[in-house]
Amino acid sequence: MRLGLTPEEEAFKTRVRAFIDENLPADIRARVEGGLKLRRDDFVRWQKILYEQGFIAPHWPKEFGGTGWTPLERYLFEEELGAASAPYLIRFGLGMVGPVIMTFGSDEQKKHYLPRILSSDDWWCQGYSEPGAGSDLASLQTRAVLEGDHYVVNGHKTWVTFAQHANRMFFLGRTSDAGKKQDGISFFLVDMETAGISVRPITTFDGGNEINEVILEDVRVPVESLVGEEGKGWTYAKFLLGHERTGIAHIGSLKRWLLKARAIAPNEPSFGRRLAASEVELLALESVVLKVLAEETAGRPPGPEASLLKIRGSELQQTLTELMFDAAGYYAGPYLPKALDDGFAEENFGPSHAPAIAPLYFNWRKASIYAGSNEIQKNIIAKMVLGL
Ligand SMILES: Cc1cc2nc3c(=O)[nH]c(=O)nc-3n(C[C@H](O)[C@H](O)[C@H](O)COP(=O)(O)OP(=O)(O)OC[C@H]3O[C@@H](n4cnc5c(N)ncnc54)[C@H](O)[C@@H]3O)c2cc1C
Repeated sequence: MRLGLTPEEEAFKTRVRAFIDENLPADIRARVEGGLKLRRDDFVRWQKILYEQGFIAPHWPKEFGGTGWTPLERYLFEEELGAASAPYLIRFGLGMVGPVIMTFGSDEQKKHYLPRILSSDDWWCQGYSEPGAGSDLASLQTRAVLEGDHYVVNGHKTWVTFAQHANRMFFLGRTSDAGKKQDGISFFLVDMETAGISVRPITTFDGGNEINEVILEDVRVPVESLVGEEGKGWTYAKFLLGHERTGIAHIGSLKRWLLKARAIAPNEPSFGRRLAASEVELLALESVVLKVLAEETAGRPPGPEASLLKIRGSELQQTLTELMFDAAGYYAGPYLPKALDDGFAEENFGPSHAPAIAPLYFNWRKASIYAGSNEIQKNIIAKMVLGL
């Protein structure tokens, strides 16, 4: 068993790091480092820089614009992005609908959508969840009724991340009530400008607007926007969720957070113990990620390990944000939304890192819910690993 990187892998890492150092715009890096709000343009500007370099879609096959990197190289790339305070890549196009279109879409869909995902000319959002259908997604009620060459869609989607930024949405709609509830579901693509679509912001715990309701009222979706076959949407959705869970551990960002927590924590034994415990957890998590990558390199797809990574990664995200919250103490108390947009300019209001800490803490409570809640991941492990 080989531990550590080969000289070629070290050289790859150095090359990626140098690229990020030279090309990540300073204002964007400063916003990520300071925990300030990122604007739509911050994400798009950075993604276009990666696109120009050919680095935007490491997970895609080379024929569709991927890099041809090994799983370990892809991991090193993501780790460097996280460690360098680059914005995370918006995954709805690159990591979700892109692979679905590539695998199940028509030639016209591939030709039209895939290049626009790579160039970030399209921003996709994911319309799966509904008020009565989250973990039990197959209970979804959004209806798509075929009328001539259009489906007429009515429904209520919720928790739709960044719908306010998106010009496209992929969504699941019910095209039939016959058979099992999974059987009547179809997978659609829609332009967010289509008449009948409205987006309503949901304000989260941290005061932010990351998620939204999307209401669909008599929305006419052309038949060409159905992906694959009618009634096969559940198969495509499961394929997509598999993609969503891998890479969810965010090791690079966790390392950056650990450094930040260490920098701001008071020099007290209780914080020392918590920092050390988090570091051990992080090292353990990283070793599992590397093991999964080795399996992937050997041609074995991730199994229940993906659920393990989701659980442990999200727990560590919550532990570290809690640690930072405690470390900032009462300075984290004042809620200063303006400070999150423009940086902290007031004097005598405690350390400059403080205003971003409470929103960060509250925001990351989400990690144990999205992308399949941790309880659901535990159910998967119970079934697949323990055979319960
Ligand atoms: C920040 C954020 C962003 C999101 N972004 C999107 C998005 O862009 N698009 C989208 O479609 N959805 C999105 N979601 C929705 C997310 O996928 C759902 O919230 C998630 O699947 C849980 O569904 P629910 O909220 O309906 O909770 P429920 O399914 O009602 O679950 C409530 C609680 O019960 C537990 N529970 C449910 N069933 C079981 C069971 N069988 N066994 C044990 N425990 C169970 C859950 O773990 C949870 O704790 C987002 C969610 C969040 C928090």
